[in-house]
Amino acid sequence: MNMMSPVITGEVLGRSDRRPHAVVIGAGFGGLAAAIRLGARGYRVTVLERTGQAGGRASVIRQDGFTFDAGPTIITAPFLLEELWALAGKRFEDEIELHSVSPFYKIHFDDGAVFECASDPAFMREQVRKLAPGDLPGYETFVALSEAIYKIGFEQLAHKPFGSFTDMLRILPDLVKLSGYRSVAGLVNGHIKDKRLRIALSFHPLLVGGNPLNTSAIYCLILYLERKSGVHFPRGGTGALVHGMVGLIEGQGNFVRTGATVSQILVEKGKAVGVQLVGGEAIHADIVVSNACAGWTYKNLLAGHKRKRWTDKKIAKAKYSMGLFVWYFGTSRKWDEVPHHSILLGPRHDELLRDIFDRKFLAGDFSLYLHRPTATDPALAPEGCDGFYVLSPVPNLLGNVDWRVQAERYRKVIEQSLNETVLPGLSGSIVTSKVMTPVDFEAKYLSLHGAGFGMDPRLMQSAWFRPHNASEEVKNLFLVGAGTHPGAGVPGVLSSARVLDEVVPDAVAFRR
Ligand SMILES: Cc1cc2nc3c(=O)[nH]c(=O)nc-3n(C[C@H](O)[C@H](O)[C@H](O)COP(=O)(O)OP(=O)(O)OC[C@H]3O[C@@H](n4cnc5c(N)ncnc54)[C@H](O)[C@@H]3O)c2cc1C
Repeated sequence: MNMMSPVITGEVLGRSDRRPHAVVIGAGFGGLAAAIRLGARGYRVTVLERTGQAGGRASVIRQDGFTFDAGPTIITAPFLLEELWALAGKRFEDEIELHSVSPFYKIHFDDGAVFECASDPAFMREQVRKLAPGDLPGYETFVALSEAIYKIGFEQLAHKPFGSFTDMLRILPDLVKLSGYRSVAGLVNGHIKDKRLRIALSFHPLLVGGNPLNTSAIYCLILYLERKSGVHFPRGGTGALVHGMVGLIEGQGNFVRTGATVSQILVEKGKAVGVQLVGGEAIHADIVVSNACAGWTYKNLLAGHKRKRWTDKKIAKAKYSMGLFVWYFGTSRKWDEVPHHSILLGPRHDELLRDIFDRKFLAGDFSLYLHRPTATDPALAPEGCDGFYVLSPVPNLLGNVDWRVQAERYRKVIEQSLNETVLPGLSGSIVTSKVMTPVDFEAKYLSLHGAGFGMDPRLMQSAWFRPHNASEEVKNLFLVGAGTHPGAGVPGVLSSARVLDEVVPDAVAFRR
């Protein structure tokens, strides 16, 4: 047994339940989806979440009458969610009111030009024609490429386990054919000349924690995923999805226990047999699924276990996604002309990305994503008010930024910038405010280096190279969430839970 061999005691609730027991560490979207899938396959499931609520990065901040979704706001691939409801014997549309947001987002360039994105090809051609007419043919070619990449990268590979190197070899011809060895920016730049259009078509890796300059062109699939399935937002915010998923788990006779931090995964004869909580309680399990940060899982939850692949050295050498500075704020007035999603680009692009990802330096300039959920659901703020968050990609904690000193200064500079651009009059109307920095991501979610999205999605950290969904170190231990295959983002982590259907044995294998 690992470390101190604690006596396995817990699970009073589950004693009369004969189903094999799965413990899921963490109640992020990946952990919740895994719990629903395992519940549907006959497991008794206990989800253990360290914070006070389910959702992980998608938790909800309620403050002064405002409801802020802490993380994901651009909901794509709703069919992945519908599938979870169906597995639990429910209909998604009976419980969740999903609104499609169109245009998806409005991009403001530093020179004053704007570019909007939507599903409609005619609308998109008109946007491209207005911004960079000479790039229309290259644009059409690129969108066709993005579709081809989606059809293989998402439809065929996102929910397949990459447990052996042969799996990787099998996809090599497709990788080469689809330019997966190139970067997203490299592929886009090969077809587009206008600098602004290049950015508009290549920023998507940032949504999953990657630098467009070195993330595999496979991630061009996100552009087509948005076009195909649309961008959505649930009534009540993303938190409504989390609430609904917890309801599905409870409906299966399972539960999410909050305020429970796992301190180690218990291992006997090379097999996971349960977990131990901070405080000493041990909980037996037939299988353990970790939705915690993959690096943290191996480094800290299996600290006493000799690891062949995910050694402390390898975890230290891995490349981590950027950090996020997020400022949630509510105002006493509204800006009806501001859409739900805006991207506000600063004067620099490539060099700003290098500051964030390579030099890990907090630059004086920035590019921002502005979320105004009250554009779609006014009930997320008191009457006559707007709720917002603004997000700035920043270096993770491997940089040298002292956020205790910098957070308020940085927030003020962002406030000033919004005040001078899309939110005139902002400074006199802020009635509630909260900031999250990479320090909070580390402390709250136990994310290594305070990274916003775990290990970054470069080619050499994707598919077989990423921590596997069926652990390479310990039997009966499985991984879901941003740190494993296929990677971050809500569609990614929901797909990681889908992979479990292929790698987790049927519950009948554990029946006593
Ligand atoms: C600000 C922000 C905006 C984003 N916007 C989008 C978007 O618009 N669209 C999109 O698709 N994606 C977006 N993402 C990415 C997406 O939210 C994440 O990739 C996804 O939600 C991560 O889910 P996960 O399953 O990996 O778990 P996480 O959300 O990371 O949850 C893991 C959970 O495990 C818990 N945990 C960790 N260690 C332990 C332990 N030892 N014991 C018990 N519990 C533990 C943590 O507290 C946490 O609740 C955004 C992310 C952020 C941060």
